[in-house]
Amino acid sequence: NKPRSSEALKVVARCRPMNRKEEAAGYERILEMDVKLGQVTIRNPRASPGELPKTFTFDAVYDASSKQADLYDETVRPLIDSVLQGFNGTIFAYGQTGTGKTYTMQGAWAEPEKRGIIPISFEHIFTHISRSQNQQYLVRASYLEIYQEEIRDLLAKDQSKKLELKENPETGVYIKDLSSFVTKNVKEIEHVMNLGSQTRSVGSTNMNEYSSRSHAIFLITIECSETGLDGEEHIRVGKLNLVDLAGSERQSKMGAHGERPKEASKINLSLSALGNVISALVDGKSTHIPYRDSKLTRLLQDSLGGNAKTIMVATLGPASHSYDESLSTLRFANRAKNIKNKPRVNEDPKDTLLREFQEEIVRLKAQLEKRGMLGKKRRRSSRRKKAMDGESAMENEGEDDNEDGLEKNMENYLKEQKERLEEEKAAIQDDHSLVSEEKQKLLEEKEKMIEDLRKEQEATELLATKYKAMESKLLIGGRNIMDHTNEQQKMLELKRQEIAEQKRREREMQQEMLLRDEETMELRETYTSLQQEVEIKTKKLKKLYAKLQAVKAEIQDQHDEYIRVRQDLEEAQNEQTRELKLKYLIIENFIPPEEKNKIMNRLYFDCEEDQWKFQPLVPAGGSQMKKRPTSAVGYKRPISQYARVAMAMGSHPRYRVSGRTLV
Ligand code: ADP
Ligand code: MG
Repeated sequence: NKPRSSEALKVVARCRPMNRKEEAAGYERILEMDVKLGQVTIRNPRASPGELPKTFTFDAVYDASSKQADLYDETVRPLIDSVLQGFNGTIFAYGQTGTGKTYTMQGAWAEPEKRGIIPISFEHIFTHISRSQNQQYLVRASYLEIYQEEIRDLLAKDQSKKLELKENPETGVYIKDLSSFVTKNVKEIEHVMNLGSQTRSVGSTNMNEYSSRSHAIFLITIECSETGLDGEEHIRVGKLNLVDLAGSERQSKMGAHGERPKEASKINLSLSALGNVISALVDGKSTHIPYRDSKLTRLLQDSLGGNAKTIMVATLGPASHSYDESLSTLRFANRAKNIKNKPRVNEDPKDTLLREFQEEIVRLKAQLEKRGMLGKKRRRSSRRKKAMDGESAMENEGEDDNEDGLEKNMENYLKEQKERLEEEKAAIQDDHSLVSEEKQKLLEEKEKMIEDLRKEQEATELLATKYKAMESKLLIGGRNIMDHTNEQQKMLELKRQEIAEQKRREREMQQEMLLRDEETMELRETYTSLQQEVEIKTKKLKKLYAKLQAVKAEIQDQHDEYIRVRQDLEEAQNEQTRELKLKYLIIENFIPPEEKNKIMNRLYFDCEEDQWKFQPLVPAGGSQMKKRPTSAVGYKRPISQYARVAMAMGSHPRYRVSGRTLV
């Protein structure tokens, strides 16, 4: 086993162009991007005198003139290549609504120049497969959405069904019953994506508001089997999560349509949990990472500090009115930079679909062969029988047992059989020595035989179709998918990749040089004259003073932000306490104590789903105590009666109660 190397989360920032509205309103531009250096500078439009602009450094930055292909070639392509090798990969788009998350992930579908990461990755993946050699691939896609902490399968027929997260000790967290489609080429996977996108927009009355509050995840699983150096066949599995997050802007307390606070508190639960997870990960002191606090963080646990290569694209608006949100996005992204992942190739995991397909294909093939064999045997035995009966054989003799294709064999055999039966039928018809009753019986017998033959043929055809369909889903380079690009184009692609690589290296070097500069300034301590020493030290002082000011400002900002968040939390707590009291009052005054006890005795905590549930009124066989599930370590969470009832009433968003209603 190779030692696991850790790898930092890759973070890039992208700024969209000013839109017409912003231009018309005459907003100032407050973002400067140094593409060569990978830096963003943001200026406060309401800056107090002496307040300096803030600078952030990322793995790369993309300004308003950047092309979709630039971002892809430089930042995304290496990640997709890794996924094709069997790594897990995740790309997040994070930012305020309207700053280009969907544009970056999906882009404008119809215009090739404006296609985003998802469609370009489709081309990339299938081109790679078509150029591969001695490898077998299976590609499948899923599309889901998280809205108010509920998971919706965008590809399912029944949209009302809410999906559940499950955990498997071997494979980790997964979504139960999530549909996925095996796709054989770009067209098919595009179709899957369009289907999901349509479902997404149909479900909502106000698409803009809806999409700004939901997280969309497009999931591609690529399995690849190849014979290794050991002569054995190995399967590698790469999972790619393409995540278009909900808008990062602070939600107003009351939703646009005046939802109750309870729902409002759920709107961005996943997003705030994401923030908390990132903070805990980079804190260094945290022993507990709150992955379990939301669906999104549970689902993407691997992508944050685990077995995956992860990219975050922070999207920004250029204009002054989005200063607060842009700054908060930059800070968020800056924190995420410090996350360390431990990616590794997923080799020979359990339960790969590819293995399942291979086995099914073998099984179907055997069945088909058996049918072919059966046919030959029967033919011989029927001939033998006829010989014994002393009848002369009516069929053509000679050609049999030749090693033709399986289907050809079957077809010929069935055709022959049918012809023979028809002829026999005709012979019976013409046989005047038979009594009409007997004739009828014989005829019916032959009819039945013909019918049986037809059925057998149908079954075989079905089997053959199934076999062919299964086999076509396993992709082999140069066979299933054609690569139409010519050599020249391939060279061009290669050159583009080289240039992207070059740019990346240049930027890294520049960033390093900048760091070195600061260090060496401190080291140069011999001076030729007092005058020079004063000059240099003054310069150094000035620089350090500016730095000090920046850090001070940062501390003040963080403090303000902390106070704001704290106030928010206090308010939420007050609201919930009020609600809790109200519900407690209702219980005390309107529910008879024995009813209350009955209800409470039925409550239990479902560890797997992380929520409180009721046991069924009538236990389905076995004693009630036995049925009561306990957690993996075999304890029930101790809770006060007060809290238990309150939770039962569903007042706490984390402890929703599913199952039967109370009354
Ligand atoms: P979000 O998904 O973050 O809410 P969108 O992707 O919908 O934002 O972008 C808002 C608008 O800005 C769209 O009309 C989109 O076409 C445009 N836009 C965003 N980013 C860019 C970009 N880099 N270049 C050109 N237009 C962009
Ligand atoms: Mg969007």
